[in-house]
Amino acid sequence: MQNSEKIVSFNALSMCVKKCKLCPRMNDSARILGLSSGTLDAKIMFIGEAPGRLGADSTGIPFHGDRAGDNFENLLEFSGISREDLFITNAVLCNPKDEKGNNSPPNKVEINNCSNYLQEQIDLINPTIVVTLGANALKATGLIEVHDLTLKDSVRTAVDWYGRSLIPLYHPGQRAMLHRSLPNQRSDYQFLAEQIRRIGVKKRKVHGKTNETLVDVVKAILSVNGDTSYFALHKLVYLLELGFSEEFGDRLTGAYFIRQKDGPYCTDLHITKLKNAIDNLKIIKNGVSLVLGLPPKDLFDEGESLFSARTKVDQFINKKILEFRNKTNAEIKTRVYLTKPMKNILKQEKIKKINMYNAPIIFE
Ligand code: SF4
Repeated sequence: MQNSEKIVSFNALSMCVKKCKLCPRMNDSARILGLSSGTLDAKIMFIGEAPGRLGADSTGIPFHGDRAGDNFENLLEFSGISREDLFITNAVLCNPKDEKGNNSPPNKVEINNCSNYLQEQIDLINPTIVVTLGANALKATGLIEVHDLTLKDSVRTAVDWYGRSLIPLYHPGQRAMLHRSLPNQRSDYQFLAEQIRRIGVKKRKVHGKTNETLVDVVKAILSVNGDTSYFALHKLVYLLELGFSEEFGDRLTGAYFIRQKDGPYCTDLHITKLKNAIDNLKIIKNGVSLVLGLPPKDLFDEGESLFSARTKVDQFINKKILEFRNKTNAEIKTRVYLTKPMKNILKQEKIKKINMYNAPIIFE
């Protein structure tokens, strides 16, 4: 199927899901299927159990924003798997809650209700590898083409299923870590990464250690800029990432960006992640916006706050940070919208008359 036909069919499916009322206890939950699920041409599809209350149900992005999402993103980073190569969905597309409003597993009826949508997603995306996360996701695949796999016996194996390869893994949530430790889950993802390379999906070239480099870049921006709006931070990191990719041919941090209503959003800059990564990060609420900064004792003079400038890469990062220093949010936004990846997205939106909010931003 041509890419444009695929987008049209996928949008039609998402619209259908938005109106679905099959599961009464999910009436108030968001329907999580859209371009935020990932790349429609992905050769790898992940199927989780259900959107989490503090995860996809709040952020609109599968496996993002809660503890399970953080663990999942860390496992991807550890094994060198890029979110840009994935399509991520769930056995049920809405968040099931218990009577206290907490996350609750989907029941058999709900999984059954949503299995037609799951099959439609698999048929449309047509991935070579399907990865299930947890027992319920594995059971959901059995409703599409029968199998007798159990998570305990078939974890970290590649099984022929529905014309593709099925790899059962444990769920990355905290509870599942009791049954499958973090070191074991890391080995599972390394196995998965090998399978992914076998089908020709290459590891993306990234400079430095993904998270550490990103945190260093954020600290350098805040040191030079002083207090910086959360809005601007996403755009500045995007401009640095893109500039680096254009100049050096590989990625600076490998962070994942999506097109949101006001421009690029970097999932790796989720506020909880930043809080965990940067001690003493100042977070100020300014109306509905957030402003981030470093406390005065962490602010050095300009020479110290920038990268050491020993290498061409450091010099590039310093130059870029200084280029955007003191720019207003509006000026930064304009620069972002003039970049090639954003122009490509805007062009597609115009031609196809759709909005591509939450679509991955592709750098190549
Ligand atoms: S979980 Fe699936 S079947 Fe149930 S209401 Fe949501 S979209 Fe419909």
